[in-house]
Amino acid sequence: MGEYRSPWVDDEVRHVGRLARSFFERSVIPHTERFAAQHRVDRETWCEAGRLGLLCPSIRDEHGGGGGTFAHEAAILWEQGRLADDSLPYAIHSTIVPHYIQEYGTEEQKRRWLPGLASGALIGAIAMSEPSGGSDLKAVRTLARREGDHYVITGAKSFITNGSMAGLVLVVARTGEPGARGLSIIGVETEHATGLSHGGPLRKIGQHGQDTRELFFDEVRVPATHLVGEVEGRGFAQLMAQLPQERLAIAVGAVAQAEYAVELAVQYAKERTAFGRSLWDLQNTRITLAECATEARVARVFLDHCIVEHLKGRLDAATASQSKYRSTDVLSSIADRCLQVFGGYGYVLDYPIARIYAGARVQRIYGGANEIMKELVARSL
Ligand SMILES: Cc1cc2nc3c(=O)[nH]c(=O)nc-3n(C[C@H](O)[C@H](O)[C@H](O)COP(=O)(O)OP(=O)(O)OC[C@H]3O[C@@H](n4cnc5c(N)ncnc54)[C@H](O)[C@@H]3O)c2cc1C
Repeated sequence: MGEYRSPWVDDEVRHVGRLARSFFERSVIPHTERFAAQHRVDRETWCEAGRLGLLCPSIRDEHGGGGGTFAHEAAILWEQGRLADDSLPYAIHSTIVPHYIQEYGTEEQKRRWLPGLASGALIGAIAMSEPSGGSDLKAVRTLARREGDHYVITGAKSFITNGSMAGLVLVVARTGEPGARGLSIIGVETEHATGLSHGGPLRKIGQHGQDTRELFFDEVRVPATHLVGEVEGRGFAQLMAQLPQERLAIAVGAVAQAEYAVELAVQYAKERTAFGRSLWDLQNTRITLAECATEARVARVFLDHCIVEHLKGRLDAATASQSKYRSTDVLSSIADRCLQVFGGYGYVLDYPIARIYAGARVQRIYGGANEIMKELVARSL
């Protein structure tokens, strides 16, 4: 297949991608099993990523970031996906959490939190979903009651990535009336949060190295100055503005993993023999993998269009949703067909194709379920 170059990758972005690749090859992939067993990566892994300048590359440099753009984030997410790493929750920490602070935070919040997120000393999480539901964000029940100079937070959050490791959790909580206009985002520093506890690691079917937990807030007192943005009730609007970038980040990883799955399956099919010839010699295998390669390429071209639009500040929520749902559907379908090529070995976690398959499933659910993505697309028609 002819070489394809993504239009948003210039020399500098390519350099960041190479740096990321060597980091994941050296410091993440060889430790995947250990990370899975402990349900988290090492703290030092975050710090190493920070020292290399891989965390918060698109946060402004005066606050410790790399001063780059989403292209730098995307290059790192791409390499992570091309190696099928599902341990380091890079996107949550780097592509999502710091951007709420950069876009809406006070100068004091930026100085307090962004340098730590960029160095890896402070690990970030965002807590939107609740046991009663994750899709309907307007219905968030967690309450933040104002008492003098503090908010007092009570409620529960489910499926929170970095749930036990995070030093900073951006909590979506109700500070006012029912519905969207009563929501705010509050930064909770976990070290000082008496009354905050978490459940055990959730036993997921994939992404075993990620620290996914329930969080419980029992009258947790947080300084009122930790309200993200100085005005209450802006939380839902902030989420709606930032979620397209989160969805694009998921799409980047999904397409990268889809390409990698095809590459792995082609290589395996050419090496493995059955009935005296290679799997590749069976027309069924070639047709399947030709279809997978084509679908991955089509997804990548649309993804690249979305990235270019985002870099120009023109990506709308509906187009980001199209990219998220389409690329994660494509990934699931490709991972399934490529795993089949591996036969029983595809079901064994030692093979990256098994990791890709298990990790693909949740991508159609988190970051907004794909049905919600289609609702957003439909609203734009
Ligand atoms: C591994 C993992 C990591 C996660 N990390 C985080 C995190 O860091 N922070 C965070 O806040 N959340 C996180 N989540 C939660 C995730 O965002 C939610 O699971 C997701 O938004 C769906 O919410 P729910 O599970 O409550 O499903 P529900 O909202 O109960 O929906 C269930 C299903 O119903 C369907 N559905 C729902 N609403 C509609 C609709 N309007 N139209 C059509 N169909 C609909 C969809 O198929 C959906 O999958 C994570 C989840 C997982 C599994």
